[in-house]
Amino acid sequence: MTEPNAGLNTTALETRAEKTSDGYLVNGRKIWTTTGQEADKIMLLARTTPKENCKKATDGLSIFYTDMNRDYMDVRIIDKMGRKAVDSNEVFIDNLPVPKEDLIGEEGKGFYYLLHSLNPERVLVGMEAIGLGMNALSRAAQYAREREVFGRPIGMNQAIQHPLAENWMELEAAYLMAMKAASNYDAGLEAGVYANAAKYLGGEAGFKACTQAVMTHGGMGYAKEFTVERLMREVMICRIAPVSPQLVLCYVAEKALGLPKSY
Ligand SMILES: Cc1cc2nc3c(=O)[nH]c(=O)nc-3n(C[C@H](O)[C@H](O)[C@H](O)COP(=O)(O)OP(=O)(O)OC[C@H]3O[C@@H](n4cnc5c(N)ncnc54)[C@H](O)[C@@H]3O)c2cc1C
Repeated sequence: MTEPNAGLNTTALETRAEKTSDGYLVNGRKIWTTTGQEADKIMLLARTTPKENCKKATDGLSIFYTDMNRDYMDVRIIDKMGRKAVDSNEVFIDNLPVPKEDLIGEEGKGFYYLLHSLNPERVLVGMEAIGLGMNALSRAAQYAREREVFGRPIGMNQAIQHPLAENWMELEAAYLMAMKAASNYDAGLEAGVYANAAKYLGGEAGFKACTQAVMTHGGMGYAKEFTVERLMREVMICRIAPVSPQLVLCYVAEKALGLPKSY
């Protein structure tokens, strides 16, 4: 989905799929394509009708599930701060032939198909951040119980206890929001605002808990041996992707509070 000039504003994407006698010819550039080094297939969102010929910007986009044919694609790995278990890539696509049977559903409806998967993904990423935060918090609490400074455990100090207690409450609250979003989605009820709220609250609470865990460990928080520095790096992506905190706030303001769309 994501391109150098189209991240949060998906409909601005510039990759084109032009019709040929037996399918499509794709040209364009993608970024942050996950597992591009390993994949045999790619799920690709491309514009099949120019934006200026569409009634709405969300029309005219199509999804393809096609071979990752490296004769027509240059896949370049991005060196990144965390999430090392999967590679992320830039993909340069040059005259990639795509057979017409690799089109998913109807041509031009790709954006609407995509919407169906966005809410569960937000819940999933929110939960990922909550899990990272809870893990960091339990490590911090254990360290606070055991580490003695000035002749007593550091966890006896309220300046150490209170932020951890706050982390616990925020993580639990984010968890409940994620469960509400997931159960609404499963029941076919309105899930958008709750899924976005779960992603936001999970990301923020997770990040705060991971950062606090590093601080609770003092100097050892910076040492790889205690793992919390890794959790802090890993949780960062849950704030950024697939939607940023700012854009969640815009969405919630619009959909939950009826305020004018601001983006
Ligand atoms: C590790 C990683 C893995 C990823 N995996 C995938 C993947 O598998 N597939 C895929 O398609 N994409 C993937 N992405 C892309 C990810 O979804 C985008 O990076 C994300 O949507 C943000 O888009 P952007 O980077 O273009 O940010 P931009 O759109 O350039 O935004 C930059 C900043 O400006 C802010 N901003 C923009 N507009 C407004 C506004 N109106 N009001 C307030 N603030 C605003 C944003 O909130 C953000 O903070 C991945 C990214 C990363 C880092």
